[in-house]
Amino acid sequence: MQTNDFGFNFDHSYARLPASLFSVVQPEPVPHPQVVILNDRLAESLGLNPEALRSGAGAALLSGNELPEWSLPLAQAYAGHQFGYFTMLGDGRAVLLGEQITPSGQRFDVQLKGTGRTPYSRGGDGKATIGPMLREYIISEAMHALGIPTTRSLAVVTTGEQVPRERDLPGAVLTRVAQSHLRVGTFQYAAVFAKEDLRALADYSLERHFPQLAQEENKYQALLGRVIKAQAELVAQWMLVGFIHGVMNTDNMAISGETIDYGPCAFMDTYDPKTVFSSIDQDGRYAYGNQPHIAAWNLARFAESLLPLLADNEEQAVQLANEELAQFAPLYNQFYLDGMRGKLGLTNREEGDSSLVEDLLKLMHEFQADYTNTFLDLTFGRFQASPLYQSDGFAAWKERWQDRLTRGQQSLELVQELMKQSNPAVIPRNHRVEEALRPAVSKGDYSLVDKLVRILADPFAHSAEQVEYAQPPEPSAVPYRTFCGT
Ligand code: AMP
Ligand code: MG
Repeated sequence: MQTNDFGFNFDHSYARLPASLFSVVQPEPVPHPQVVILNDRLAESLGLNPEALRSGAGAALLSGNELPEWSLPLAQAYAGHQFGYFTMLGDGRAVLLGEQITPSGQRFDVQLKGTGRTPYSRGGDGKATIGPMLREYIISEAMHALGIPTTRSLAVVTTGEQVPRERDLPGAVLTRVAQSHLRVGTFQYAAVFAKEDLRALADYSLERHFPQLAQEENKYQALLGRVIKAQAELVAQWMLVGFIHGVMNTDNMAISGETIDYGPCAFMDTYDPKTVFSSIDQDGRYAYGNQPHIAAWNLARFAESLLPLLADNEEQAVQLANEELAQFAPLYNQFYLDGMRGKLGLTNREEGDSSLVEDLLKLMHEFQADYTNTFLDLTFGRFQASPLYQSDGFAAWKERWQDRLTRGQQSLELVQELMKQSNPAVIPRNHRVEEALRPAVSKGDYSLVDKLVRILADPFAHSAEQVEYAQPPEPSAVPYRTFCGT
């Protein structure tokens, strides 16, 4: 480990894993790197110096142009099921620089995304463009502020180069910070292409994320159980805020339980379980309402990869895997229902809570209500004229809810406080994200991006300046679309 002006204090534990799991690569030089957004608070929490990172030397580092000798750029190997089909993947446009050991002793991957070709690039150019990198910055930081585990964004640097896409676009590099980049797909890769290294990968994952499991009788089974639990909690949190990941391929599911890979993700405005934004998700595999089911499917792929480690006898291994997988649904339901209780101001558990939630969602669906704002309206008792609030169905539901609140025996102030902390005033609405990105991409004007990031940084503040950002988009003839890997 070595220190420097930036405050980096790198270790390279991943590079000590078997060589099959990564390739050392050199980022491609770029003409004119410039830091366009930097996350001061994240930098400081990592023990980094924001001023140094903003300097020319910082831009050279964060673009991969001038890498100090204490970095060890490598691309990680992984495979994955993409839309259900298994394929070899790997970091095709990203390099891990190292693992930052923070002043409090935590370990975080520092990865550059968009630094050019790697051995896993297949047909791609390894580059990234400014729009999608800023989009990842905005949405991942919004997720963090919502209290949802996620990879973070430290900086976006423009490269001074034009990257050919549907048209030429400004090139950019995102610095992503993560508890690790170990994915379900990393295990699938080892299980299929590097069988002899599977145990080393699993041991490494245990040590890095779940050191307390080392003493378990069957630590690999315990690993599976913990990943299942982390994902059940994560996906429940997505559902509670109306987040649609958009590309829940197994390579985009992290062992740590952090949200990873902000490609075609987006937040739902009008409540509809079938909501899909991704242009390539024709069949709605990754629709809002399918996410828990897909998470369980991905976890079954994780369990399959671990089979050789679970028991010597395959039949027994399958049985252990199934025991763990069976935990996903009850865990998910519990996390989700408890979260919904918070959103409705319920401080205790009752049998009928699940149908209270479902009936509200049915009404929201029927009357095409805005998901986020309906919960805000309930929080603040604002029932302006709208088809939902004028319906008999809602009147009956509201009465049930009020009765239920009475049985909770909490003061109205406490109920409202719980609801204010459970229902965000703002989410990164698609039309606001697009509005901020447009001038950034077309003329390098980042002021709206900065403002949006600031508004989204404290979603439970319920401040006056958040009100206009809470407005849903004007109805549009063209549905909102998002894109992968651009
Ligand atoms: P994603 O859709 O971001 O999960 O990416 C799927 C795979 O495509 C990963 O292996 C990426 O590294 C790779 N990939 C995405 N964009 C590019 C690119 N421009 N060049 C090379 N590989 C890429
Ligand atoms: Mg990916």
